[in-house]
Amino acid sequence: MDIAATATQILAGERRALARAITLVESGRSDHRAQATNLLETLRGHGRTALRIGLSGTPGVGKSTFIETFGLMLTGMGKRVAVLAVDPSSARSGGSILGDKTRMERLSRDANAFIRPSPSQTHLGGVARRTREAIDLSEAAGFDVILIETVGVGQSETVVAEMSDIFLLLLAPAGGDELQGVKRGIMEMADLILVNKADGDLRAAATRTCADYTGALRLLRKRAQDPEGFPKAQMVSALEDTGLQLAWEEMEKLAHWRRETGHWDRIRAEQARYWFEAEVREGLLARLRREPVRGAMLALADRVEAGEITAAAAAGELLDGTLAGSMGGSAN
Ligand code: GDP
Repeated sequence: MDIAATATQILAGERRALARAITLVESGRSDHRAQATNLLETLRGHGRTALRIGLSGTPGVGKSTFIETFGLMLTGMGKRVAVLAVDPSSARSGGSILGDKTRMERLSRDANAFIRPSPSQTHLGGVARRTREAIDLSEAAGFDVILIETVGVGQSETVVAEMSDIFLLLLAPAGGDELQGVKRGIMEMADLILVNKADGDLRAAATRTCADYTGALRLLRKRAQDPEGFPKAQMVSALEDTGLQLAWEEMEKLAHWRRETGHWDRIRAEQARYWFEAEVREGLLARLRREPVRGAMLALADRVEAGEITAAAAAGELLDGTLAGSMGGSAN
C-alpha cells in the first residue's frame, strides 16, 4: 500500500480508501502492522474532531434500528456518520452479530454514512485496538459523528466507554419493576440511558422503566464530568422515530458543556493514557506467547508442577531472565 497516497485519499474523505485502511489495521501480519502504524502517524492531528458516541445494549433491544434511524437523522442534517462495532461474540465464534450492513440497510446506502462490522476471530484486545485505530481513521476522513456499537454482555462496554466521548445505554421497557439486571458498573458508565420501544402497547411500560432509571441514576455518585441533570434517562422509539431529536440535543448539550469546562480534553487525554497502558500490557502478553520466551515458560511450568521450584521464583526467573533478555532486541 502506498501510505502517502492512501493518507491523501483518506483526508479527502474517500470511503474506499478508509475501508482499505481499516482492513490494514485489522491485519495480523507484522509488515501490515508497520504500515498501519506509519499511516496512523502520518494522519495524526490532521483530522477534524468527531463526536464519538458509544452505544451498548443487549441483543434485541433495538441497537441496529436505533443506529439506522439516528444515523439517517444525522445525515439528514448534513453530517457524515461512521458506524463501527466492538463485538465480543466475534472473538469466540468467529461470527459477528453486530455492525452487519444488512441490519442497517437504508443507512448503508447513504452516501454520507460508513458502516464497518466488527472483524471476526480476534480477541477483545485486538478488536479494541482495531476499533480505536478505525476511529482515528474515520476522524481523519472527516466524519462528524462516530457511533461505536457493542453488545451489553460484559467487558466490551468498558472497552467502548474508554474510546467514546459520550456513552449511551439502550434499554427495553421492563415488564415488572425490576431494573433489568443492569449492572451498576454499566449504569455508572452511561451519560444517557435511552429506554427504547416507547411506542404502542409498550409505551406505559417504557414510562415506568424510564422513571425507575431516573431514580436509580440519582443514587449514583456525582461525576465531575457531568453538568446539572446528567446522567439522565429518556424515552425513544427507534421504530417510530420519536425522541431521537431530543436525545441528540441532550448529547450536544453535554458535549458542549464538557468542551467549555475542559472535561472533554481531560477525558480524551486520560483515554489516550489508558490505551497506551493497554498496548503495553498486550505487547507484553504477546511476547510471552512468542519463542523463546514461550518455551522457557513451559519448561519452568513443568518444574513448578514437579515441585522443583516455587511459582514465585520461577516467575522471577522468567521475567528477569528470559523475558528481559528478549526485550533487549528490536521492538515488536
Ligand atoms: P439489536 O439486536 O439490539 O440490534 O435490535 P434490533 O434493532 O435488531 O431490534 C430487535 C427487534 O426490536 C426488531 O424486531 C425491531 O423491529 C424491534 N424494535 C427496535 N426498535 C423498536 C422500537 O422503537 N419499537 C418497537 N416496538 N420495536 C422496536
